[in-house]
Amino acid sequence: MADDPKTRPETRLIHAGRRKAWTHLGDGAGGIVNPPVWRASTILYEDVAHLKQGTQANRDGQLFYGRRGTPTQWALAEAITDMEPGAEGTMLYSSGVAAVTGALLSVLKPGDHLLMVDSAYDPTRNFCEGFLKSWGVETSYYDPMIGAGIADLMRPNTRAIFLESPGSLTFEVQDVPAIVAAAKAQGARTLMDNTWATSLYFSALDKGVDLVITAATKYLGGHSDAMMGAVTTHKACWMSLRRTAQMLGHFVGADDCYLVLRGLRTLALRLKQHEASAVQIAHWLETRDEVARVLHPALPSSPGHQLWRRDFTGASGLFSFVLQGGDATARAALIDGLAHFGIGYSWGGYESLALPVDPENYRTATRWQAEGPVVRLSIGLEHPDDLIADLSAGLDRFRAACG
Ligand SMILES: *Cc1c(COP(=O)(O)O)cnc(C)c1O
Repeated sequence: MADDPKTRPETRLIHAGRRKAWTHLGDGAGGIVNPPVWRASTILYEDVAHLKQGTQANRDGQLFYGRRGTPTQWALAEAITDMEPGAEGTMLYSSGVAAVTGALLSVLKPGDHLLMVDSAYDPTRNFCEGFLKSWGVETSYYDPMIGAGIADLMRPNTRAIFLESPGSLTFEVQDVPAIVAAAKAQGARTLMDNTWATSLYFSALDKGVDLVITAATKYLGGHSDAMMGAVTTHKACWMSLRRTAQMLGHFVGADDCYLVLRGLRTLALRLKQHEASAVQIAHWLETRDEVARVLHPALPSSPGHQLWRRDFTGASGLFSFVLQGGDATARAALIDGLAHFGIGYSWGGYESLALPVDPENYRTATRWQAEGPVVRLSIGLEHPDDLIADLSAGLDRFRAACG
């Protein structure tokens, strides 16, 4: 069942984290389907001897102190680990950003050099330029399409390479195996923000990545009502990741874990629909004169499309398109009148979102050049034909605003 690696991912998601010890009363007294919410700060011990034992063990699956979690947190961590072939364990964090920083801090120390992809999520860059810089770690940024050429940027003290594929806002797909090979040749660690694909559509550890980061806030939760991050890793990095998270006091509440576990059960089903609708809408956008380019990894014109075909097993519902001419005001005319798209940042929920984005403000190693302003869409679970009709009216407004 859940621990049989040959089981298909859809089936594993249904069984994952539902250990009998966490859902059954024992002695034939019956059980329930979902691991319940165990809220706890104080853990009670039977006697002083058990108290002492607990201090020494630091084991998963043993109550010790509220911060170490209860069966609710363990169930979610185990379920996420189950989705990632080759994983030893998962640490949970209060947000995706906390997962990014927790992973970086587990592999870096003052004096190290970090290579960061130029298309990284903006708060990830902020952590490098803010905290890491003052801590004595130097970051340099690289072109997401660099591939094996990354070897030329490595220094003797390069300790880690951070990937995000496809890239935030512009969706370049990276050559992960080539970058991993360059890192391994020099004993550097690789970290990848895999929020877009999730483990279902890209098996990062299997491709050689050391630490895979997922903002569970997005597709794992899937309902825009919880924030959380996860880092999953193999045996060699597990103890360091765990120790760092424990020292920094990372913790997530049991109620949020319950929400993300509930979201996880339908992840495969939701992603399938997000993918189908987004691909349909992306192809339709390409036929419109107001659209210069569509940045969606499943489209042959998108940067790194061949790598996406080679390495990914699917696409999610988030992509961008570049308008043909026009300015920010015309773009706002498109977005403001949309009936089915909310205007907001945090994507991956069941509802569609449209967002004006300006990649030129977040690039330093490469230069963003485009025919017009950019719109990012998160395609939700509405009927795609309704979304197309809505966008069609929006593009008409854009054209009218361009004059
Ligand atoms: C949203 C996002 C994050 C951060 O997740 P939060 O839970 O909002 O902190 C990290 N990486 C990517 C690619 C994201 O889109």
